[in-house]
Amino acid sequence: MSSRKIGTRRKIVGGNWKMNTTIDGAVDLAQEVVRRLGNTRNVEVVLCPPFPNLEAVYRVIAGTGLQLGGQNLFWEDYGAYTGEVSAPMLTAAGCEWVIVGHSERRHIMGESNEMVNRKLHAALHHDLSVMLAIGETKEERHAGAMERVLRVQLEQSLERIDAGAMDRIVIAYEPVWAIGTGETATPAQAREAHAFVRTVLGELFGQEVAEATRIQYGGSVTAANAAELMGEPEIDGALVGGASLKPDDFAEIVRAAGGGRAILG
Ligand code: PEP
Repeated sequence: MSSRKIGTRRKIVGGNWKMNTTIDGAVDLAQEVVRRLGNTRNVEVVLCPPFPNLEAVYRVIAGTGLQLGGQNLFWEDYGAYTGEVSAPMLTAAGCEWVIVGHSERRHIMGESNEMVNRKLHAALHHDLSVMLAIGETKEERHAGAMERVLRVQLEQSLERIDAGAMDRIVIAYEPVWAIGTGETATPAQAREAHAFVRTVLGELFGQEVAEATRIQYGGSVTAANAAELMGEPEIDGALVGGASLKPDDFAEIVRAAGGGRAILG
């Protein structure tokens, strides 16, 4: 029987700014977020600006308790890989986190689970924590293949990952049909998928690790629906796209993750 219990997992909210900010806008946005959420203690908050904005955002959030994340990385450290960014480059820019396997990378850039796995290993090797995104498409869900898709994504993306490293990996369950569409999963749909993800994690790493691993929900999370989603005990936070560009809405989502308040320290 596990000594760690559901409910002891600290909520985590990531803001994925995608390809939406240039430096000035990113600095302004980071300042607005700091004003609302700097020194939040009860929820972990990770801002993920585009690569060229990382250092500027780091300067704004350094010392505030807010953390910095990259949106992607390549698995090699250095070399002739035009256009790619590596784990050492992210850590040097102030990142503690990186998103790996986002559906836009999988579906637009053609990333496979095998590539996601190589990225995951590179990130962990360089002490980056990872938000590992998985999720089924609408067609897959309608075909009754959700569980099979999630299982394959988890098994292949987490290949050769030690159970001991799972405390540096957060799973982001992001149904593809909910990302940027305004069509949010219902709390029941999210609950069912998260419970299944936890079952697979239990098979891969054992029950104690599965219960300690945080699973975020992502897909059209807004200030209006966050409280209901974050109220689900199986949902350990959110990965937020569109609403992370609106400081008031993002702060509201973080507050919802914190059970209605952001405790400042
Ligand atoms: C995301 O990019 O991970 C995401 C969930 O986007 P949105 O919140 O806009 O659906």
